[in-house]
Amino acid sequence: MIRPRLFLMGLLGLGALSTACRTARTGDASTVVLVSLDGFRWDFRRYGETPTLDSLAGAGVSAERLVPPFPSLTFPSHYTMATGLYPENHGIISNTMYDPERDAWFRISDRDAVEQGFWWGGEPVWLTAERQGITAATFFWPGTETAIQGKYATHWRPFDASIPNRERVDQVLAWLALPDGQRPGLITLYFEDVDGAAHDEAVDSPRVRRAIEAVDVAIGRLTAGIARLDVRNQVNVIVVSDHGMSERSPDRVVFMDDYLELDAVRVVDWHPVWMGYANDGDHERVYRQLEGAHPNITVYRRGDLPERFRLQHNARVPPVIAIADDGWSITTRDYFQRNRRNFFGHSHGYDNQLLSMGSLFIASGPAFAAGHTVPPFANVHLYELVCHLLGIEPASNDGSLDSVRMVLR
Ligand SMILES: [Zn+2]
Repeated sequence: MIRPRLFLMGLLGLGALSTACRTARTGDASTVVLVSLDGFRWDFRRYGETPTLDSLAGAGVSAERLVPPFPSLTFPSHYTMATGLYPENHGIISNTMYDPERDAWFRISDRDAVEQGFWWGGEPVWLTAERQGITAATFFWPGTETAIQGKYATHWRPFDASIPNRERVDQVLAWLALPDGQRPGLITLYFEDVDGAAHDEAVDSPRVRRAIEAVDVAIGRLTAGIARLDVRNQVNVIVVSDHGMSERSPDRVVFMDDYLELDAVRVVDWHPVWMGYANDGDHERVYRQLEGAHPNITVYRRGDLPERFRLQHNARVPPVIAIADDGWSITTRDYFQRNRRNFFGHSHGYDNQLLSMGSLFIASGPAFAAGHTVPPFANVHLYELVCHLLGIEPASNDGSLDSVRMVLR
């Protein structure tokens, strides 16, 4: 594998050199296809027939589980994988956020907000790659629809859940079939099926089984297509997920209106990590109202959040935070009465060290160990791993290659 070492840039810190240092990709450089199966818990292979994932794990390397950042939510976790930064450092501290300096709201369903670059800190790997002369192509990944530092990947798509998995895979295969010089070195691919099904249903339900098997079929189409390509011996495939799933129950619910006057607080996020402000600025009163109020929530002032959450050093984290225990829900009595069926199925966002929040890591290709299972590791290290596979210098980040060297051949 050719590893263009852009040591001058790192040594001198001169971004202006990056254009001069652009290195054409050659036929024997490593190509990385990074696939995310949203919500695919580390153990979900046992709830369906997954011949492709099983054979990828058998031929390559898998982790007992991949540990997401806190909160274990889709956007924070995907963007931690993309940047190697914890949420407090990349700024996507939840799926729903309020920025007090800009008086701005972020919701993942609000495309205008998602497309505003100021929310997205750090340097995602598709930009690290392109800055160093490697073309990147993304068929979905949180952050890819936004001009971050004013830039997108060369190829990207606005998120559209109606695009069938088969079409996504075929586009990735078409990118891989491009000639040298045009072929992307880094490709991302994303499937949301399992997350959607597991939010609504039991793990042993037909719908969850169908979703698990559908994403396995999609990856099977991908690997079969790669096997037909000239570049098949250069492609490293990494399959990850962003978080696990925990079973909810209408018998495990905390009603915040039992403890708070809801019109006296601004609630930024509800479940399973409640985040809020006192409207009158007396956040300490809100903290005291919640602290010890219910045995299945743990309440913190922002500054008292455990360091291991790597969340408190960001102004977007509100002053009062209440975290539900595994499998518990946080809501109001009114919402619960009107939406009782939402309290079945599964949820995530809980303490990232919980077994239930553990996600998937399977990788196969020339760079990876064969037939190995490795202990759990944090997904913050994936950025360093992908940069290593691409032979590029990572931007400053919170991960380390040494923490994931065990997956390499
Ligand atoms: Zn997710």
